[in-house]
Amino acid sequence: MTNASKPTSPSATGHEVASGAKPAAKVGGIPRVNLPEDARLDTLAVREGLPATPWGENSEALFITSSFIHPDAATAARRFANEEEAFVYSRFSNPTVMMMERRLAALEGTEACIGTSSGMSAIMLLVMGLLKAGDHVVCSRSVFGSTIKLLQGEFGKFGVQTTFVSQTDLSEWKAALQPNTKLLFAETPTNPLTEVCDVAALAEIAHGHGALLAVDNCFASPALQRPAQMGADFIIHSGTKYLDGQGRVIAGAICGSAKHIDEVFTPVMRSVGMSLSPFNAWVVLKGMETLSVRMKAQTAGAAQLAEWLEAHPAIERVYYPGLKSHPQHELAMRQQGGQGGAVVSFIVKGASEDNGRAAAFHVIDHTRICSITANLGDTKTTITHPASTSHGRLTEAQRQAAGITQGLIRVAVGLEDIEDLKADLARGLNSL
Ligand SMILES: *Cc1c(COP(=O)(O)O)cnc(C)c1O
Repeated sequence: MTNASKPTSPSATGHEVASGAKPAAKVGGIPRVNLPEDARLDTLAVREGLPATPWGENSEALFITSSFIHPDAATAARRFANEEEAFVYSRFSNPTVMMMERRLAALEGTEACIGTSSGMSAIMLLVMGLLKAGDHVVCSRSVFGSTIKLLQGEFGKFGVQTTFVSQTDLSEWKAALQPNTKLLFAETPTNPLTEVCDVAALAEIAHGHGALLAVDNCFASPALQRPAQMGADFIIHSGTKYLDGQGRVIAGAICGSAKHIDEVFTPVMRSVGMSLSPFNAWVVLKGMETLSVRMKAQTAGAAQLAEWLEAHPAIERVYYPGLKSHPQHELAMRQQGGQGGAVVSFIVKGASEDNGRAAAFHVIDHTRICSITANLGDTKTTITHPASTSHGRLTEAQRQAAGITQGLIRVAVGLEDIEDLKADLARGLNSL
């Protein structure tokens, strides 16, 4: 799972690893793809992984196996004792999963990565690995709803306390620090209001306090934003979203230092088993090959749609980091490589809380192209009413505080022709 070690000698093509019943894995390292040291992101997105098997497959192999064979009992003993790196059991080591981990680590610019069964289980693994009863977390109150439930509800039960603060007001983060604060958790941009927090500033606050910073990078993906470069210690992913990119599988990952991945998270994975299935890892692995071109195209589409919506007479407000009207526009452009991302939210005009839901439902129900689903990151554009779906478990007061009004609609722009998407939304907007 470690991405830190240099490529082994050119002869280490990986054939040893997959040579049937007698894999002669090397002590101290599963071989690496023999890529130039200075290979760039778009190259790594397609090429990083593991060397091919002796069959010379060009597309990465899918290793559907629970366990791996050892040449003799003594080798098995060394491998179980972690004295020799090799594949042992797919709960914590599998070649297809490792290919996905190496590729994602390369894209995020971290030493290592560990794949998990979902985005939520990545956050569970993060907290289980780093914290114990009596520790404290500071987290933005605008993060993904299930993240709030997990930290407050589940981990609260086990004695890990969380204080929720403003996404954008750094003084609230500082004021929430306690002597036992070990972790700061942020997500940027957020769902569905695309609020942007300052990752570099949060890293400074965390490190000044001897704490660590984790950033959920689902919405921007490493194609637009690389939090490790801004000082984040851990990057959380839901592979379900843009990494897969076609809405097929549930998957997750933590990216971080080799030391954390190998010594903190892998042992927890080994005993807890929130493991990523090799099939899902393979789908995400192949999805990452097109991540950069998809993000460029979907972001360009979203930017056009956001401008069109902002000019539409039936729209009260548009939330999109690429628009000048966005409160953190400049920060977003700096952090996200000058791109706003592919998610646009908007409030339908005159949608008071009484008729807001009816107006939003009217627009959603008049679409014929957009998929009515709360997922995002798909090549198919999705449309959702956050107040009754993703944020439906909140009380009305919590929703109001979070700005999730009844007239709010979120669109995650896919790869359809943008003129067709405008027409799809205009149908409802023009007949309100
Ligand atoms: C979807 C999502 C998650 C959870 O990921 P799953 O793969 O659905 O478990 C976490 N964070 C954000 C920002 C998400 O959008």
